[in-house]
Amino acid sequence: MCGIVGFIGKKQAAPIILDGLSKLEYRGYDSAGMAVFDGEKINVVKAAGKLKRLVELTHDGAEIKGFAGVGHTRWATHGQPTSENAHPHLNGKGTIAVVHNGIIENYISLKKMLTKKGYSFKSETDTEVIPNLLDYYYKGDPLEAIQKTLHRIEGSYSFGIIFADRPGELYAARKASPLICGKNDEGTFIASDVPALLKYTRRVYYIGEEEIARLTENSIEFFDVDASPIEKEEVEIKWDASAAEKSGYEHFMIKEIYEEPKTVKDTIRPRIKGNTVEIEELGMTDEEIKEVGGIFIVACGSAYHAGVTGKYVFEGMARIPVNVDIASEFRYRNPILNEKDLVIVISQSGETADTKEALRVAKQAGCKVLAIVNVVGSSIAREADKVMYTWAGPEISVATTKAYSAQLVALYLLAIKFAHVRGRITDDEMTSYIQDLKKLPDQIELLLGNREKIQHFANRYVAAKDVFFIGRGIDYAISLEGSLKLKEISYVHSEAYAAGELKHGTISLIEDGTLVVAVATQKDLLAKTVSNIVEVKSRGAFVLAVTNVGSTEVENVSDYVLFIPETNRYFANSLAIIPLQLFGYYVSVGRGYDVDHPRNLAKSVTVE
Ligand code: GLU
Repeated sequence: MCGIVGFIGKKQAAPIILDGLSKLEYRGYDSAGMAVFDGEKINVVKAAGKLKRLVELTHDGAEIKGFAGVGHTRWATHGQPTSENAHPHLNGKGTIAVVHNGIIENYISLKKMLTKKGYSFKSETDTEVIPNLLDYYYKGDPLEAIQKTLHRIEGSYSFGIIFADRPGELYAARKASPLICGKNDEGTFIASDVPALLKYTRRVYYIGEEEIARLTENSIEFFDVDASPIEKEEVEIKWDASAAEKSGYEHFMIKEIYEEPKTVKDTIRPRIKGNTVEIEELGMTDEEIKEVGGIFIVACGSAYHAGVTGKYVFEGMARIPVNVDIASEFRYRNPILNEKDLVIVISQSGETADTKEALRVAKQAGCKVLAIVNVVGSSIAREADKVMYTWAGPEISVATTKAYSAQLVALYLLAIKFAHVRGRITDDEMTSYIQDLKKLPDQIELLLGNREKIQHFANRYVAAKDVFFIGRGIDYAISLEGSLKLKEISYVHSEAYAAGELKHGTISLIEDGTLVVAVATQKDLLAKTVSNIVEVKSRGAFVLAVTNVGSTEVENVSDYVLFIPETNRYFANSLAIIPLQLFGYYVSVGRGYDVDHPRNLAKSVTVE
């Protein structure tokens, strides 16, 4: 998920690697390291924290000599962000060094298998199985060992690999995690992203899914997973340096919106085994799940909105009473907690001050606390009893998009698990929910294809002053987040209302031309929401509806409609939020604001 740089050639590798990694720093990371072959052995240097530390330790790379090496900035997914867990990782003999971006999903069973064969491990990472697996298969042909390793592993990866007994070679391989390579007169390079290479070359090759690259100081060859050679075209990079950081996207926010299908897939996939949901990290027996009396979901901002959806899903599916609280309220309201209650805290950064305090309040009351967190090793992850990580990767834009989507699916997985264990859904129903979950990434992809339609609409409303979002049930939860997305980055005043609540005051604010965004995905509530649409329309509102494909009753009463594909009622948020995130984004772009850094806001709110 984070940064890889590798070099082999006529120049010292370490300074080039450090320079390349510095170009990937913007992505966020927690530790860094590199391995360089000095002609006899592989030397490794690693440090927790900033790359600066690595630069200091090696005197700008001068202390670590050699013409071939791989470097890494790590964004921890498995194991704390310590120097032991930082990459590169080596086999026991220190003859194979590997840097890895991504997640090896079957690392536990591979680790067991390798341990039985006498291998031992020094880190908590999933990555460390790779140098050991390569060692296991290595009989003098690196390509063969890599090929066999790729056949054994599941998950996502991009690798940079060096073998001590193949001094003139550097290897790379990838699946579902980006990796490119390039060449100039001084040598050849690998990198997980374009900015690392721009200073050295603009002519690059994109390594394809499950492909392997072999680099020497003046050649790059490509092979498929069965080691058959592949021909590849060079691509010229025309972006300037700042566009390159965003992989060609104009802003991090839109890049991260486009990463949502992958994020959702990465969060779901490791927790589905056949037709069941298995959340190992929950660490609760079926008996314990059955004994849970009630659930409290506590969070701030968008994570709180994910929690509001969670309430509807948990209560609807598992019939467990759920309280959702804003963390800054929860911590001071002296909540009535019972030891049998489960408290779920949600935070992207894992450092949100109010959420951290809420967690402590819950623990003091004797409750078990489960954290849904994106950043591994963060304070909340460390203090909670159990952690369920969202595999969203680093999120740079202040306004959350992909981390929010990951939080939603994490809650769905939990709700399905609880509902099934507590006998509220049958095996067949669980299978059907799992099928729907699996469809979400492609459905989100489909919605992203509507980008231009939403941009067009946003341009019409770029000067809007007040916008109201309305919906019932889960549609209300979606409205809360849609409204926040708009106001936080475009500074347009917007409010979300439970559609039935409008008549109790707010409707007096509707005047000729006021934009009302009506979210209507919940079939059993559609007729009610349609009535609310008609009410605001008759007071002059212009209505943009977000509804299910084929929902003619909503289409008939609205001015503009965005359709979402068919899913079950509980998962509608994951789809309906996509056009609303895009809407907020395009209004902000249209108004010329700094989308990724909205005024007065910080990415991680570490003060109360
Ligand atoms: N899963 C690996 C780890 O936790 C790689 C993380 C990354 O992509 O930076 O070490």
